[in-house]
Parts: sequence; C-alpha cells; structure tokens
Amino acid sequence: MAVPKKNHSNQRTNQRRANWKGKLVEISNCNNCGAAKRPHHVCGECGFYNGRKFKDTDSE
Ligand SMILES: [Zn+2]
Repeated sequence: MAVPKKNHSNQRTNQRRANWKGKLVEISNCNNCGAAKRPHHVCGECGFYNGRKFKDTDSE
C-alpha cells in the first residue's frame, strides 16, 4: 500500500467527515389513496402502483 507523503491531520479528516449527512427519506403520496409512500414503491395501504394493483389488501 502506498504511503502518503503528507498525511492528513486528524482535524482535516474530521472536517471532511463533518460533511457526511444521511439522505433524507423521500416521501410522496399515493395517487390512489393519498397515503404517504416512498417513491417507486408499491403503496403499503392500497397496494397500487402506477395505476395498477399489485398487492391484494382486501382479501384478508
Ligand atoms: Zn395507496
């Protein structure tokens, strides 16, 4: 493994890592029932996605 000629100081490393942020969880609303759902995911409430039903929710 190559050895850096000049190592970063701890302060420099910490300053770089201070900018790491978790991504916010994006939320959109279902077109069918309006419940909050994640984009590109089948709605957990009614099982609809893109105008089609993918999951049986009323058969239980
Ligand atoms: Zn829905």
